[in-house]
Amino acid sequence: MNIRFPEDYADCGLLPFNRAALDNDFILETPSHDPGGPGCWLLLQGIQLLVIAGDKESLPFGPLPAMLGDIKDALYIGRWRGQPCRLLAVSRKREIPTDLQAINILGQQPGLSLALLSLAGLGNAVLHWEKTSRCCDNCGAKMLRLRNEWGKKCVTCSAQHYPRIHPCIIVLVRRGRELLLVRKPEWPAERFGLVAGFVEFSENLEQTVERELFEETGIRVDNICYQGSQSWPFPSQLMAGFSADYRDGEIRLQTDELTEGGWFSIDNLPQLPPKRSIARWLIDKTVKDLQP
Ligand SMILES: [Zn+2]
Repeated sequence: MNIRFPEDYADCGLLPFNRAALDNDFILETPSHDPGGPGCWLLLQGIQLLVIAGDKESLPFGPLPAMLGDIKDALYIGRWRGQPCRLLAVSRKREIPTDLQAINILGQQPGLSLALLSLAGLGNAVLHWEKTSRCCDNCGAKMLRLRNEWGKKCVTCSAQHYPRIHPCIIVLVRRGRELLLVRKPEWPAERFGLVAGFVEFSENLEQTVERELFEETGIRVDNICYQGSQSWPFPSQLMAGFSADYRDGEIRLQTDELTEGGWFSIDNLPQLPPKRSIARWLIDKTVKDLQP
């Protein structure tokens, strides 16, 4: 089975990595709910998901292959298609057994269902939280898991810490039938996308949109309008998607972040982000809206 991203999403909420993409297949629980007994494995080696070779929709089930890691490092995260599901970070140094295959979850077409892709993303976010919450930010002491929550509590100063989600904006700017698209050096060659950035102290989302656009491209906009959002667990962002209309300014790129940028007619667009992302959802929606 090799599944392609849908051509169209009825709603932004149905994009991969949002909870609705998981709802029919996965119930999120906390490690304290581990029922014991056999279950399936969500094995992540970096951003690669390990699945059964030749059957991308099947997670390994049963005993953990000893060559992949130590069972004491595994974390129960909930029920995947009715089975207990445990998460484990597999070291990049470990060799993958021949009955498993590694799928890059951020590949152009990973060939996974949206539910499994979203589960892998969730696993990535949980592993990031686990890695960054070993010690208390307040005093540096060890932290213990809170029961029934993903939060943790410091054994010394009792401070409680919860998974941190970082708000970001992403914005599509229209100028007539043209869209403002930019390129970051780390993106695949030829691919263009949208201006995006992290919310800073004291900003509301619209103010982040204005600042990021002006800083990165020198463009000012009107009619900033919220369109929808996407959880982006690489490792912990929440992308708030906006549209806006060009007001004034000549393109002047912030060259330490962007290598190219310009106005593209909707009739002649360059290579765009994959259909798993809110960037592409915003572009597709706008192109559709601008069709006569
Ligand atoms: Zn502390």
